[in-house]
Amino acid sequence: MKAKETAWATSRSARVLESEVVIIGARVAGAATARHLARAGHDVLLLDRADFPSDTISTHVIARSGMVLLDRLGVVGDLVESGTPRLRRVEFTSDLGFLSRTIKDRYGVDFVLAPRRYVLDDILQRAALGAGAHLRAGVSVDGVLRDETGRIVGVHGHDESGPIEVHARHVVGADGLSSRIARSVDAQPTIVRPSSGACQFAYFAGDWEAIEYHLSDGVFAGVFPTHGGEACVWAITTESLARHYRHGAHGADEALAAVLADHAPGLAERLAPEDQRTPVRGMLRMPNHFRKPFGPGWSLVGDAGYHRDAITGHGISDALRDAELLAQAVDTSLHCPALEVSALARYESHRDRMSARIFEITVGLAAFPDQERFVALQRDLAVAIDDLAGELHSRPLPRAAEARPGARTDAALTAPA
Ligand SMILES: Cc1cc2nc3c(=O)[nH]c(=O)nc-3n(C[C@H](O)[C@H](O)[C@H](O)COP(=O)(O)OP(=O)(O)OC[C@H]3O[C@@H](n4cnc5c(N)ncnc54)[C@H](O)[C@@H]3O)c2cc1C
Repeated sequence: MKAKETAWATSRSARVLESEVVIIGARVAGAATARHLARAGHDVLLLDRADFPSDTISTHVIARSGMVLLDRLGVVGDLVESGTPRLRRVEFTSDLGFLSRTIKDRYGVDFVLAPRRYVLDDILQRAALGAGAHLRAGVSVDGVLRDETGRIVGVHGHDESGPIEVHARHVVGADGLSSRIARSVDAQPTIVRPSSGACQFAYFAGDWEAIEYHLSDGVFAGVFPTHGGEACVWAITTESLARHYRHGAHGADEALAAVLADHAPGLAERLAPEDQRTPVRGMLRMPNHFRKPFGPGWSLVGDAGYHRDAITGHGISDALRDAELLAQAVDTSLHCPALEVSALARYESHRDRMSARIFEITVGLAAFPDQERFVALQRDLAVAIDDLAGELHSRPLPRAAEARPGARTDAALTAPA
């Protein structure tokens, strides 16, 4: 399909923009979906209310499965060049003992990365723009537009200059857990499991080399070395334990320090207060659910469609996987509208099947069983991630169109410096 040049026009009081596909949310899920679709020759507009580059509430280790997908997007080299360390050693401490292992070379991956989100999201956005997609930051989407049949035909929102409408053949909600698109189309939950997990984290300077995990009863803490010699130091607990520590402390920094001192003393003693580089941030309740991810003219990808507790560190990998699956479905439906329902239904069934094993492990871990069971689930997780990485690695690469004459790498539209 020939890319249409996007252009502002005036309709009623709103400025109107036209694009073949509009994607709401320009981080992992949105930017990756945009890159795949733009590479396949589609005209894609990304909208996000945030300004970039910017951080978001997330720790950020990327599993082997996600590394395979980043490689397919062609961005692993950029990530390594950004200065995030290659991580090859994983250490696990619990009352059952200490384990250290080296990441094996499988499916083209012999290290993992934990890039800061303001770097990862920026590199993915640049990759999308490089493929010909467009990005408008600082645009809040308020709802969807429908035609007389109820089909979704665009979105409306606003930026600092006033109201905006975007008319599109397909609307993708990549707008995270609290997705406005999911609410606007009334995307119903399809699977819901109990959610009780909380995660708090901050960045510390230090001599960090390995991914570290520290398990005690009811607390899973860890270290993800990242840019600038810093590490993301985090603790996942039940929501009730997180609230208990919050109530007993003067602020979130003191609460995280107390959790670590009580439950991961070997880590806590290496965290000098003067080495803390950021305030503690986090999330007190991390839901476990799937949503119906498509309907006439719309789809959901990433956390907007599937959210799970961060205890397995697999959300970024899930978002990258679903971006690839969805882009293939949307590509098919744009080329052949009669196949829209079957292509998007296949996206849903692939998403659910490929998520099921790690989702069940996630729910099991988030319930904090005894340490023996927790460690057994961690072993299951490692096997499940490797199996998923193998399946993703063996899939044919997404379709890429011939290079588009005149495709823009619209750097002027992006905030990144
Ligand atoms: C505490 C915590 C720790 C985590 N740790 C890990 C980890 O170690 N490893 C891992 O793989 N995953 C981790 N995750 C999960 C991971 O952060 C998410 O799965 C991932 O960010 C999902 O990406 P996304 O693009 O779907 O959504 P998001 O990253 O949430 O991006 C959504 C975007 O949509 C935009 N948006 C929302 N609403 C609108 C609107 N109305 N108009 C315009 N724009 C809008 C937002 O500004 C945002 O930029 C963690 C999550 C949490 C909460």
